[in-house]
Amino acid sequence: MQRRQFLQAGALFGMVSTGIFSALPVSAADESFVQPPLPYALDGLKPFLSEEQMNFHYNKHHAGYYTNLKKLVDGKPEAKWSLEDIIIKSEPGPVFNNAAQALNHAFFWNCLAPVGKEGKIAEKLSAAIDRDFGGIAQFKEQFVAKATALFGSGWCWLAANKDGKLDILPLSNAGNPLKQDKKPLLVVDVWEHAYYIDYRNERGKFLKLFVERINWDFVSGNY
Ligand code: MN
Repeated sequence: MQRRQFLQAGALFGMVSTGIFSALPVSAADESFVQPPLPYALDGLKPFLSEEQMNFHYNKHHAGYYTNLKKLVDGKPEAKWSLEDIIIKSEPGPVFNNAAQALNHAFFWNCLAPVGKEGKIAEKLSAAIDRDFGGIAQFKEQFVAKATALFGSGWCWLAANKDGKLDILPLSNAGNPLKQDKKPLLVVDVWEHAYYIDYRNERGKFLKLFVERINWDFVSGNY
């Protein structure tokens, strides 16, 4: 199977037993940090997100983090690390920021589904959502509330502890649950660039629609 086909097959995040992002062929050791293709067309998320919104977000913002990262790690030990390792091991600073932004976006694209492709919540995750949030409707409500309240730029995650307990983690800037030794399951980007073309200042409106566009097959597979 060709590299590109592998990525497009959605096998990108084969994070069951080995490290969460270990299946990502993104270390400079194997070629270079490469932005994975979107798992759908640029207009595939309409009407939730327009082609223009997705084009700027994927082709300008996301792509830019890979470009910056390559420059930042050129000739340094991190050039041979995976993005996951950079996120876990790096001190705060530009290398961490660009590596985390690269990986966070790749994860985010997979959390979204075109209409009709939402899949379903697996039984194990559904039971954990009931246990830790009181039900899927309550989870969505709490997730939207916390993501809306995150001050400034950042990412709102659903993550699991070692014992499987679920938490909603609103993290500023390029935050990733790997830094807290937690497993990422779901994320939404709440940087203004994620929604401003389509929703202007209305982050809450974007988030209420986001929770209905989740790719539950992907999220369930992460748990
Ligand atoms: Mn973004």
